[in-house]
Order: sequence, then structure tokens, then C-alpha cells
Amino acid sequence: MSDIIARIEGTAGRLTLNRPDALNAITYDMCLEIETYVDQWKNDPKILVIILDGTGDRAFCAGGDITAMYETALTGNFEYGRRFWTDEYRLNAKLATCPIPIVSFLHGFTMGGGVGLGCHVSHRIVCENSQIAMPECAIGLVPDVGGSLLLAQAPGRFGEYLGTTATRMGPADAIFIGFADYYIPQNQWPNLIEILCSTGNLEAITNAHFDPGVPKFLDIEDDVNTAFGGDFLSDIVADLEHSDTVFSTETLKKLAKPSPLAMASTIEMIHRVRGLNDIVAALEMEYRFTYRSAEQGDFIEGIRALVIDKDRNPKWKHKLSDTLLPDSSAMLRPLGQYKLDLSEKTMKIGFIGLGNMGSPMATNLTTSGHEVLGFDITNSCPDGVAQVTNAAAAAAGADVVITMLPNGTIAKSVAAEVLSAMAQGSILLDCSTIDVTSAREIAQMADGHGVGFLDAPVSGGVAGAVAGSLTFMVGGSDKAFGKARPLFEIMGQKSVHCGPAGNGQAAKICNNMILGITMIGTCEAFALADKLGLDRQAMFDVVSTSSGYSWTMNAYCPAPGIGPSSPADNDYRPGFSADLMLKDLRLSQQAATEADADTPMGAAATALYEAFVEYEDGAGRDFSAMLQRFENRTRK
Ligand code: NAD
Repeated sequence: MSDIIARIEGTAGRLTLNRPDALNAITYDMCLEIETYVDQWKNDPKILVIILDGTGDRAFCAGGDITAMYETALTGNFEYGRRFWTDEYRLNAKLATCPIPIVSFLHGFTMGGGVGLGCHVSHRIVCENSQIAMPECAIGLVPDVGGSLLLAQAPGRFGEYLGTTATRMGPADAIFIGFADYYIPQNQWPNLIEILCSTGNLEAITNAHFDPGVPKFLDIEDDVNTAFGGDFLSDIVADLEHSDTVFSTETLKKLAKPSPLAMASTIEMIHRVRGLNDIVAALEMEYRFTYRSAEQGDFIEGIRALVIDKDRNPKWKHKLSDTLLPDSSAMLRPLGQYKLDLSEKTMKIGFIGLGNMGSPMATNLTTSGHEVLGFDITNSCPDGVAQVTNAAAAAAGADVVITMLPNGTIAKSVAAEVLSAMAQGSILLDCSTIDVTSAREIAQMADGHGVGFLDAPVSGGVAGAVAGSLTFMVGGSDKAFGKARPLFEIMGQKSVHCGPAGNGQAAKICNNMILGITMIGTCEAFALADKLGLDRQAMFDVVSTSSGYSWTMNAYCPAPGIGPSSPADNDYRPGFSADLMLKDLRLSQQAATEADADTPMGAAATALYEAFVEYEDGAGRDFSAMLQRFENRTRK
């Protein structure tokens, strides 16, 4: 099961975070997957609302999954974290500005990364057990994911208070502070979701809203505004130390634990963001800190102490009594050329097999801004694709490796070559047409390397590859499919997820077995019509609108001058060659033998295309040239 359960129910697109054992902490892959669905659904006229919720009893989302950031940063690789933050922040901005309503159901903990997902959207619902907080300073970070904007917009000086002390907000406080809008008891959520799915009517939310009661924060409002009114963290600490109240004692206790550097920067950041009223400006300010946090700040030590070793005894770079100002301001200095760039994520793609199909597919990917490294044994390489000298070089560091190769044996040997060069979590996407067994073997090999595999053969031919209008039939996991979906959208007009690995190839050969059989039937019928003295146009006019119609008759008519333009009108230059049809029919018979399926029509079509390609004049011609084979033949 994927970490995101995505589905369309009625008029609603539904995204459910599904890592209940990890309190639905959001991973990098989850960010990318949510973004893909939001992009898709916001432009779908059938979808009126997006619903965001989480499985399990304890949390909508308790934060971001920071372990991978820690592990990569320890090796001196800070790029992984920066990439994660950049892509996560782009998602936060998209959720905040989505043109269709998004309703978030914030049960249990909503913290850090969870705030970025659930607290910028148009309709934010809390319930009796909701607990919202921004606890980043505890791990040496500042409140990010757009949280600085919410804090800056909070009443009085609550932003500074909540951003440094990580105090949790119950439902009434969350609404008072501006992190949520509606209080609706959790037992009413299923009914509300059902109404939203069936009608898309947002009034159902206002109708279900209850009075959340008096916010507890009203009791400390004066204290917060007095103590947290200072310009710098040092002013705030001094003020608290000079007063002798329960509030000041408790608050000083809370300020004793987090990173002093992070808290001082938080105060300065909230002051700068206040009044901007702009999520992108807030994210840009936050990124200045997060970009530097592992290298120059306390982030690594914070995760070590709280998440990895769990000794809760971090050795921060500064003490609370230190003069923090120069260092905290330095963390917020502009990043120049490294400034947050929220433009769409580009992928690094290795493309292997740059023939008739692969070459235009790779070109479409570069035109869309992706970085493509290409390799073909013939050394051919289209403009815009960076040529490398072997398959492993194309695969090294790639997010996705695409192969577009002649057959299963070659696809397997290339897979063996590239998999050891590929990073864990990357995707091997084979778009070649190959046998189902080889596809499933490659899937197993990929699994052994921690690489996701998709078999995604195409239909649409070279014209579809050039126009970016291919159809992809895809086998593999939901997760891998979600990652590759943006690429399918560039190279094609449709992608159908057919189930686990191998099912894409299964769908392709079943489709093409039907295609081969119907093309032969259509050609036979034209040859018979000729001998019966039936005009071809009359035959087309009847069949194309009667029960004998098919794609081969209506859209790809094998008779020249009849129906829409097709390879028959171009002296049967392919189009889709008879050789490739023979290849696909043979694959269908290989699969039928392995699966013990009775396919007499498929076998007959294979035998006819074999004769046509190997013994007659079919090689190199379009598969519809089969008509000429029948035109001149008699029954003997
Ligand atoms: P192609 O022969 O034009 O391209 C295949 C390319 O792979 C060639 O350039 C070849 O040099 C390269 N290659 C072979 N072995 C290699 C290796 N070890 N390393 C790197 N490169 C290698 O074929 P195509 O028409 O582009 O078809 C590719 C795949 O797409 C096939 O599986 C085919 O069945 C399928 N397909 C083709 C069409 C079509 O209309 N052409 C339509 C649908 C599906």
C-alpha cells in the first residue's frame, strides 16, 4: 500500500496520508506524489474540491521525515535536504494558492511539515483531539513550510511565542491563532466527507461548524504581548527574567531547551515576514535558514539528540545567554544565486535506446526542461540530449532511467548494467515492448537494488512519440507510477496503470494481438469486396458505421484513398511496420504458451504476418500493406 491513498470519489479528489506508524510524517516521495495529484486535479473540471486527511488515530501529520536528511548531511551531502525543502515548499505554496478549494481534516497531531500541508488550505477543520504546533527550534530549525507566515499573522506577539516555545494549540486556540477555521467533532467527519464527495458543496462545512469554546490563550494574551514584544530573543529572555509570574517561569523553562540560534533567527524572521502577507516571500525567508541549517546551524545535532540517539541532550553551538545577533542574522542573509527557486522540479533522466521512438521521446523531455543524458550503441543522440559514452554513465545519479530498446534480452542486459549505477529510490522505466517474463525478471532485479521498476510499453508509433501523444500501459507499484506520471504526461496523452510489474506488457500484447487480427480481417474483407464488385468507398461507408467497424477500418483504413489519411495513402510507408506487428504477435504467442491460453486467431495472425514479413514483400512496410497480399490471391 502506498504512503498516499489517492482516489476520486464523486466530485472530490481525495488524498489520505497513510503512514500511521510514523504518525503520517511526510516523506520526500509523498510530497512529490501529493503535488502530482494537486496539479492534475486543480485543472480537472469534474473535481470541485480536494480532501486531505490521514489514517490512524494519532495524527493528521506529525512532521517531515527528517532521517534521510540527517543521514545524507552526515556524509557532507547537503543537497538532498535542500532539494527536499525546495520541493516541499513548492507544494506548500501550491496548496496555499490552489484555485479549487482544499479541505483538510486535522485530527490528533499536526506539526511542522503537517502544518505546511494542512494549515494553508482554504478550509481547515479541527476536532476535539487536535494538537497543532511548530516545534522546529527543538531540532535546530526555524518554523518553516510557510509556518512563519501563519505565525507572523497570529494575533499580537503569539507568533513569536509559539514559534520559539512550540506550545501546542488545541482546537479553540488553533482557530483563535489562525491555523484552523472550523471546529467539527470527529464523529461527524465521515458524514461531512460523504456530502463533500457527492455534492462538492462547501456550505456543508459551515453548517457542521460548532463553537469551539473560549481559547485558553486568552488567559496569557497580555503576558505574551508584553514579554514577546522585544526586538530580539535577548530582549524577550531579559523581560521574562525580570518578571516573577507563573507565565514567565514556565516560558523560561520552555526556552531553555531549543536551539538558541534557531530561536533568535525565528524572532528575526517573524518580524521580517510580518506584513508581507505572501507565502512565497515567507518560504524564501525560511529557506535562507534551512539552506544553511545543516552546514552552519544546529540541525544535525538537533536530530541526533531528539530523533536518532533520543538522549534529549543536544550540544547547541550557543548558550541562551550568548550574544546571538550576528550569527542569527547571518543565517537569514540572502542566498544570492542559491535563493529559493520554486519553479517546477526538473528531473535528471538517463535515456538508453535513442532510435525511432526513443529519440523523439527524449527530445520532448528536454524541451520540458528536464536534464536528459542519453546513450545508444550507434552513438546517435538528438539535439538537447547530453550524450554519454555508456549506459551506466547515463544512469548515475538519475532520478529516472528510461529504456527504449528492441527486445527483452537487450532490455535485461541493459538493466543489469544500469541498476548498480542507480541510486536507491530511483526508477527504471522500460518503455520497450518486451515479453512479460523478462519484464517481471527486470522488476525483481530492480527490487534487489532498491530501485522502483515500471514496464510501460506504448502505443501511438513514431508519430505519437514525436507529438508527445503516446499511450502508456504501465505495470509496477503505485509509488513508482506516481513518480513517473509527470513524465508520461510529457511524452504521452494517456497513461493507464494496469497493476503490478509485467501487466503493462500484458496489456500491450493483448491490445496488439487484437490489432493484428482485426487488420487482417479488415484487409480480407476489402479483398473479398473487390471480387464481389463492391465499391471500396461504399464498403467503408457501410462498415465504418455498422457492427463491423474497428479502429483498423475507421481510423487506419488499409485501402488507399478511403477514410482518414493513413499509411495506405503514403505507399504503405510505416506508420507501424509489419515487422513490429510480427514482433508483438510473437510475444503474444510466447505469453499464451507460457500461460497455457488458447489463442487460435492470434496464432493464425502470427503465421500470416510471419509469411508476409519473412517470405513476401512485407518487411519494412506498414502493417496495413497486408491488403496488397490478399488483393492478388485466390483461394488456392
Ligand atoms: P529502434 O530500433 O529504432 O530503436 C532501438 C534503439 O536501441 C536503436 O537505436 C539501437 O541502436 C538501440 N540499442 C540497441 N541495443 C542497445 C544497447 N545495448 N544499448 C543502447 N542502445 C541500444 O526501435 P524503435 O522503433 O525505436 O522501437 C523501440 C521499442 O519500442 C521496441 O521495443 C518496439 O517494439 C517499441 N515500439 C515501437 C513502435 C514503433 O512504431 N516504432 C511503436 C510502439 C512500440
